[in-house]
Amino acid sequence: MTSSDELRKRRQKEAVRIRTSLNRLRGEQRASLKGGETAVAYVQERLCIGCDQCTIVCDDDAIEMYKVAMASPLIQVESNQKAKILRDDCTGCRLCVLACPTDAISMIDR
Ligand code: SF4
Ligand code: SF4
Repeated sequence: MTSSDELRKRRQKEAVRIRTSLNRLRGEQRASLKGGETAVAYVQERLCIGCDQCTIVCDDDAIEMYKVAMASPLIQVESNQKAKILRDDCTGCRLCVLACPTDAISMIDR
């Protein structure tokens, strides 16, 4: 029978393998995204769930949240929000694209 120590070591090894694999995927994703001075981030409002992750990673304060009404009149939620890119402040660094869990942000030509 597998001991708890063996199980712990196996879990640690697996965690390292998964982390390495995710980091490689992120690197590849980042390399394939356009960015820099000629690009600016763009949020598809429909896909944004208002989670605020993009504002946390944006070092340039180029994203602000704004309130919107819920799509369904049956649900009343005061805090429903969406992200908006401030084009003039965006440096095209792409961090928000990588942080967004719903792929709501893409990089477009400036
Ligand atoms: S691309 Fe960079 S600077 Fe522009 S909104 Fe996203 S995180 Fe901020
Ligand atoms: S990370 Fe994506 S889903 Fe979350 S607030 Fe920003 S744009 Fe919306």
